[in-house]
Amino acid sequence: MGGIFVFAKVENGVPSRSTLELLGGAQKIAAGLEEPVTAGLLGQGDAALLYAYGVETVYRVDHPLLKEYQADLHLLALERIGRTAEPRVILLPGDSLGRDLAGRLAFRLQTGIVTEVIDIDVHPSEKSLRFTRQAYGGKAIAAIVPKAFPVVATLKPRTFDPAARAGDRTGTEIPVEAPLDGAQAGTRLVERVQEETTGVKLEDAQVVISGGRGLGGPEGFDLLVELARVLKGAVGSSRAATDAGWVPSSMQVGQTGKTVSPDLYIAVGISGATQHVAGISGAKTIVAINTDPEASIFKVAHLGIVGDYKAILPPLIARCRELVGG
Ligand SMILES: Cc1cc2nc3c(=O)[nH]c(=O)nc-3n(C[C@H](O)[C@H](O)[C@H](O)COP(=O)(O)OP(=O)(O)OC[C@H]3O[C@@H](n4cnc5c(N)ncnc54)[C@H](O)[C@@H]3O)c2cc1C
Repeated sequence: MGGIFVFAKVENGVPSRSTLELLGGAQKIAAGLEEPVTAGLLGQGDAALLYAYGVETVYRVDHPLLKEYQADLHLLALERIGRTAEPRVILLPGDSLGRDLAGRLAFRLQTGIVTEVIDIDVHPSEKSLRFTRQAYGGKAIAAIVPKAFPVVATLKPRTFDPAARAGDRTGTEIPVEAPLDGAQAGTRLVERVQEETTGVKLEDAQVVISGGRGLGGPEGFDLLVELARVLKGAVGSSRAATDAGWVPSSMQVGQTGKTVSPDLYIAVGISGATQHVAGISGAKTIVAINTDPEASIFKVAHLGIVGDYKAILPPLIARCRELVGG
């Protein structure tokens, strides 16, 4: 048994962002454990794109039934790969796909799982692993030392730096047989709906301006959209604003929403509940605008502005426009 295994996805001729983050995490521990990085591909997808990021072996199950995502069939294929590759660590993304598969995969392999991992360390002499994750909605940090191997782990999106290209390298591809049958699928894909995004995607934005209940209604978001346009950013929200139906839930940032790691995060009319802050821990600079000087958001903000957003945002937008144009 050995190796750090990454469940990889290659989309439009490049490894997906989540795959690069998993490879970033894998590279971090592979050196400490002195074990290789391996990967699994389901369906087509160019393995050479993974070798360039330091993957030594790619295990592939290629089957027509894997063309569309179907949890039961993907799980069967991954289980087969897991039993063939026998890695020490299995890394999956902490997105909806990883959450769907990871727990079931750990059960099938009769092993342990750590979810929402934000850091991984290797003890230099003992070569033991230590996973770090947030606990109690971000109020505490838990360190988890796995005892059962292979250990399955999901990495929280946007918390690991994407792997850097390791140059022109080659690797080995190992085909894995998985006798899949449509009857094994407990669900079927009925419709695929593409989420509408205008402008820069929230998870990729370098500037995110989020609004909360303090905006008082959906019209309050107009000012945020204007500021986002000037700063070429994206608009997010707190759960209170999405629960009120002011903006779609796809804009929610936080523990049960999206994790963002922009250079600049501006929280407007957001109190700073731990569940919201859990989604912005990767932001480099946090600015808060709030009428309440005691609001918790000021404890995490690098810069705080106490006041009504309706008075603060218009001159801020005008000044930003002067500085950056637009
Ligand atoms: C299991 C669970 C998961 C959750 N997941 C999430 C999540 O993913 N994301 C999330 O955001 N929340 C989440 N929540 C909800 C979270 O606990 C808070 O209830 C929520 O974040 C509060 O949103 P808010 O800050 O917009 O509202 P409030 O807490 O009501 O804060 C509104 C703020 O606006 C300020 N304000 C009022 N008027 C103005 C004004 N004119 N100008 C400027 N400021 C003003 C107020 O002083 C106040 O601080 C979760 C809760 C649970 C239990």
